[in-house]
Amino acid sequence: VSENISRLTAHLQGWIGRTRPMLIDGQWVEAASGKTFQVRDPATGKIIANVAEGAAEDIDRAVRAARKAFESGPWSRMTPSERGKLLHRVGDLILENLHELAQLESIDNGKPASVARAADVPLAADMFHYMSGWCTKIEGKTIPISALAAPGNYFSYTRPEPIGVVGQIIPWNFPLLMAAWKLAPALATGCTVVLKVAEETPLSALRLGDILMEAGIPAGVVNIVPGFGETAGAALAAHPDVNKVAFTGSTEVGKLIVQAAARDLKRVSLELGGKSPNIILADADIDAAIAGSTAAIFFNHGQCCNAGSRLYVQEKVFDRVVEGIAAAAGKIKLGCGLDDDTEMGPLVSDVQFDRVSGFLRSGKEQGARALCGGEALEGAGYYVKPTVLVDTRPDMKVVQEEIFGPVLVAMPFKEADDRLIAEANNSIYGLAAGVWTRDVAAAHGIAHKLRAGSVWVNCYHVFDASLPFGGYKQSGWGREMGQAVLSNYLETKAVTTAIG
Ligand code: ADP
Repeated sequence: VSENISRLTAHLQGWIGRTRPMLIDGQWVEAASGKTFQVRDPATGKIIANVAEGAAEDIDRAVRAARKAFESGPWSRMTPSERGKLLHRVGDLILENLHELAQLESIDNGKPASVARAADVPLAADMFHYMSGWCTKIEGKTIPISALAAPGNYFSYTRPEPIGVVGQIIPWNFPLLMAAWKLAPALATGCTVVLKVAEETPLSALRLGDILMEAGIPAGVVNIVPGFGETAGAALAAHPDVNKVAFTGSTEVGKLIVQAAARDLKRVSLELGGKSPNIILADADIDAAIAGSTAAIFFNHGQCCNAGSRLYVQEKVFDRVVEGIAAAAGKIKLGCGLDDDTEMGPLVSDVQFDRVSGFLRSGKEQGARALCGGEALEGAGYYVKPTVLVDTRPDMKVVQEEIFGPVLVAMPFKEADDRLIAEANNSIYGLAAGVWTRDVAAAHGIAHKLRAGSVWVNCYHVFDASLPFGGYKQSGWGREMGQAVLSNYLETKAVTTAIG
């Protein structure tokens, strides 16, 4: 058991020391198999909790509960306004438990609790607050049809209706926030949910389960099943009574989700990987660009699908920029996420640590040079030093593939012309991009040509519950957040009445 448990609030110490059950039909229950799995503290590699291990039978129980809640439970009879009030209450309760949720996120995922307090938890609350407003604003249209036989003799309108039972599968990089991004819009539209949380980080979503019940979300409306991807996740994606699957994770697994969902032609939305270009023109505010680009790659230890991981810098400022980022990276304080002065914690797991270390080896073998970092930190915990790689070529693995760790590859360019755009777009991904310049026309010209779902100009990682987020190309299908996400969870019905 991790020594860090003793540093948590008294309530949490009791809460995570035990075996955590899963939430099905408003009850906290064991897995049908009775199995549990271990959850580790990435700062020490030691066990912090055991969690019920959901698999196909548990998913089936959860789907049946969600179906009942959708078809005949109080959820379908509730007014939009009543649903909105409940969602707002969830947001309030998340904020009331800010410190506890931030600690839990830190000990489970490794991220600094200070960061979770400033970002993950308030953003999760904001998602529920924002989505609570949409409950009462999901409207259809009246459409003046021109039926050939008898124009004017018909009255037609559309009715957006909830898609039904939704299966949601989320990753470990922002465990609470990803749960909020998924749950809030599904609930706002009137769907019911089975949420499969990541095996690496199930704890904050289970704590959110308590909060959902405390807020008064009825039994069966949200079911939370921790478990592994190949068992619980695959069973959820393939379940015949699930109407839609919403997935966030790797592009590789996204393709498996599509295959599993294809059998019943389930609706699918996907938020997948990225290898996002971040472009600095010579006329930019260079100090701001250095600070912003450092955060673009190293925020959350580079474990962001939208991380600014490919840096393109105009030749004449290249050395200044990369040396500036390397100097800033060298000052980042690594340590246990529960320490107040920690700026970067460990990577989430031994698997991730090995993956990122493999990329560092591959970069070195293929001729890239590390301006800083380039290796793991000695000792316990899954720490990797923030790394800036130069002398790279476009065909290198470290330039092409998503590393999902604190590793930046930097490349110089001569002019901000179509060759630069082609290079920036030379990726199977298209999730996000950054542009740094004082030239407004250049900024928007480049922003329009980049094949990416989000473009940040003179900033990076700016998220808001009201802004759509999602990917072009193999970065995904559909959008999260904003009004745009509602369509992920709605069917449109056209009703036509003869009025003679
Ligand atoms: P990462 O590489 O970030 O761990 P994954 O795509 O492997 O991303 O995992 C994201 C989520 O998908 C996790 O909840 C994981 O359990 C789940 N998952 C992994 N494999 C499958 C699968 N074959 N079917 C359904 N879900 C899966």
